[in-house]
Amino acid sequence: MGAGAVIPEAGFFTLANARLHSSLTPGLQAPADAEGFILADIDVAGGTIKRIEAAQRAAASESTVDLAGRIVLPCFVDCHTHIDKGHIWPRKPNPDGTFLGALEAADADREAHWSAEDLARRMDFSLRCAYAHGTAALRTHIDSIPPQEDISWPVFEAMREKWRGRIELQASCLFGIERIGQKDWFDGLVRRVAAAGGVLGAVTYMAPDLDALLDSMFAAATKHGLDLDFHADETDALEAVSLRRIAEAALRHRFEGKILVGHCCSLARQPDDEVKATLDTVAEAGLSVVSLPLCNLYLQDRRSDGTTPRWRGVTLLHEMEARGIPVCVASDNTRDPFYAYGDLDMLEVYRAATRILHLDHPVADWPKAMMTTPASIMRLQNPGSLRAGGSADFVVFRGRNWTELLSRPEQDRIVVREGRAIDRSLPDYAELDDLMV
Ligand SMILES: [Zn+2]
Repeated sequence: MGAGAVIPEAGFFTLANARLHSSLTPGLQAPADAEGFILADIDVAGGTIKRIEAAQRAAASESTVDLAGRIVLPCFVDCHTHIDKGHIWPRKPNPDGTFLGALEAADADREAHWSAEDLARRMDFSLRCAYAHGTAALRTHIDSIPPQEDISWPVFEAMREKWRGRIELQASCLFGIERIGQKDWFDGLVRRVAAAGGVLGAVTYMAPDLDALLDSMFAAATKHGLDLDFHADETDALEAVSLRRIAEAALRHRFEGKILVGHCCSLARQPDDEVKATLDTVAEAGLSVVSLPLCNLYLQDRRSDGTTPRWRGVTLLHEMEARGIPVCVASDNTRDPFYAYGDLDMLEVYRAATRILHLDHPVADWPKAMMTTPASIMRLQNPGSLRAGGSADFVVFRGRNWTELLSRPEQDRIVVREGRAIDRSLPDYAELDDLMV
């Protein structure tokens, strides 16, 4: 990373004068600066963080790397992605950038192309990108519309095995909630998801019998001990209130598992009193919410009349945070009809989220939204924070404060896993060319 700061290959070293964020280093008791940072020394040995203490200005030794105030963050946790859809853009672009255009294009591509080999190669490509950028855990949604579930879930299981120790991979099934009406199919899918140790997920919208459909979801999740993960209200329609219906269902069922709800875009368009009632219910029900700022900015308020978008598409994270609702940001789609861009780089997501959602002045605890909060929702053993006794998994950046960190792509960041700097080469797009015909 220049300036002589190189992680010793032996795996035994001290990082001196690392800048750690207080929100992500709960065990470090030292005064933070105005941005929440603490200058600290980190001892690493045998793949583990042995000690984190406020910087001592100790004499340099051969195994000491002076970071001179560069920021060190825990590895990222990306709790909402679609690596089964990723990178199909060259063969199936979104014709007009709309949500409907995305749905139709993705459906057609799935029906035409999603063999086990096609999925495995694209999923592996996505995971190599995420790993190189510093992500240690990732949840993907898996399109589970028949007969795709029979093809995709075994590929997910193989991929989870292949990546074990590098990326902790989770999956949630995905289908339009009205499909629950096909009871035998739904029962089979729930059993398949449970057998894979997955999460039960669906897309919710204002179906006429939404409450009854949600009751079936919650009953199945309770029966099989599954957590839940919804795509909700990814629209500007004022009448889209499935977030509130999910919260009401959780209360009705006294559901004890974790519930993550993504998108919730329409909430930002609704009157204040309705918003307040919804968020009170969401908080009471213990739901968590993930915002997908890149995808929302791309799809929401897309206009076909040549006019300019007027709203940002994201949900009300500040109001949720103020009520104690756990909130995250995540990648969502990458180079597919739902989002033409992206590389599963959580620093890019957080940088964009900071601008789109104003997660700054003060930054406060917002960094938790890409690390500790999703780690808790995903029930990860590694809590997404830096602590003595924890695995030495972190990212060393060039930036020394928020403006430096969030102004450049930080492509020369160093990703350390179990005490060793990893090879950060990104896969070449050309690798997938033969799949794109
Ligand atoms: Zn999604």
